[in-house]
Amino acid sequence: MFNTLSDRLTSVLQNLRGKGRLSDADIDATCREIRVALLEADVALPVVRTFIAKIKERAKGAEVSGALNPAQQVIKIVNEELVGILGGETRRLNLAKNPPTVIMLAGLQGAGKTTLAGKLAKWLRGQGHTPMLVACDLQRPNAVNQLQVVGERAGVPVFAPEPGNGVGNPVDVARRGIEEARRAQHDVVVVDTAGRLGVDAELMKQAKDIRDAVEPEEVLFVVDAMIGQDAVNTAQAFADGVGFTGVVLTKLDGDARGGAALSVREVTGQPILFASNGEKLEDFDVFHPDRMASRILGMGDVLTLIEQAEQAFDQEKAEVAAQKMGSGQLTLEDFLEQMLAIRKMGPIANLLGMLPGAGQMKDQLAMLDEKHLDRVQAIIRGMTPAERDDPKIINASRRLRIANGSGVKVSDVNDLVNRFFDARKMMSQMAGRFGM
Ligand code: GDP
Repeated sequence: MFNTLSDRLTSVLQNLRGKGRLSDADIDATCREIRVALLEADVALPVVRTFIAKIKERAKGAEVSGALNPAQQVIKIVNEELVGILGGETRRLNLAKNPPTVIMLAGLQGAGKTTLAGKLAKWLRGQGHTPMLVACDLQRPNAVNQLQVVGERAGVPVFAPEPGNGVGNPVDVARRGIEEARRAQHDVVVVDTAGRLGVDAELMKQAKDIRDAVEPEEVLFVVDAMIGQDAVNTAQAFADGVGFTGVVLTKLDGDARGGAALSVREVTGQPILFASNGEKLEDFDVFHPDRMASRILGMGDVLTLIEQAEQAFDQEKAEVAAQKMGSGQLTLEDFLEQMLAIRKMGPIANLLGMLPGAGQMKDQLAMLDEKHLDRVQAIIRGMTPAERDDPKIINASRRLRIANGSGVKVSDVNDLVNRFFDARKMMSQMAGRFGM
């Protein structure tokens, strides 16, 4: 996401490095390049204009700072203004004083509302809530069923109209859904609503009627970041027609330009609360303007990486594994466990992409082969517990059995075992050197 923009901005700002003093002409030239980069990334023109005007004004008036050279100062300004455009502070979900908190999802068909309902439900559960989903998209064939499927995956109940009762009335379903949530003591209710392919009056009216009936704490406008400039028009139409309190960007994984993300907040004045970046329930995160800006400027997003790691790793097991690494006692079983934990965090290329400077290693990241990791996993799984525990016992006949069992060549098994021994030796040497 934001790859092109990130590349462009990084190189524009890189050009400033090494300059001792920035003349007004330097700043003008830099601003022109930033402007082109933003327009190419599909950021809405009024947003670009305001942004550039602010950068120019601040860069030219910048105090000489002892700590930063002029180039660093410009980078700092661009970063701060980018954070500003993206909404400044992270905006948390508003919760009702008297539960249930009602969250209504609105947006065009295909924006990702139903998928989001599942993601949100899973995330809310992780935060200690007891969410329930309500299926009010009675327009799209199969939408109710789809919500039931995501609900099941997320492990939360779904309130839906009984089948066979005709199309039903979404306002009525919403109302009954909230009653049911109150009765069953769910503290958050997520209401999925119908979308259309384009903005139309009937859709707006239905969404508005549901909103009036359930009085949600949050109306989240769900928008597909891949629709580019249209995102801004659609957002405006929903802001006028239904009104919303926050935005969720979806499909950021597919969007190389990302201009929508940079425009929606500024144009509608409503904050972005969450971002979706994939089809799986875990591909979802709270939106942090500062971290996103940092990612766009190629400065990495180490905080998100750390948070994901905290969720994926079992602290105790990780510590035990670290100790074993230091003393040369790591087994293939430990190795498999740690590898599975890392992979739970998402594709390896995405993880590395959050590190500072990842933009420059894009090509290498694209070549990272998840299939190789699948193979390693399959080989270790093909071993008996005794073999995992003490790989030294893996003789020629065992190698053949493992290879046949896991569908790889004997040389692949040899490779893995040899590399494991090398790595184990290296780790204990390193631990010795660093006094671990
Ligand atoms: P709705 O009509 O607004 O309820 O949209 P859906 O939830 O049915 O989503 C439409 C399509 O987009 C489905 O195929 C989803 O799997 C897909 N989708 C949703 N969110 C994302 C996302 O963040 N990334 C990607 N790549 N696909 C998504």
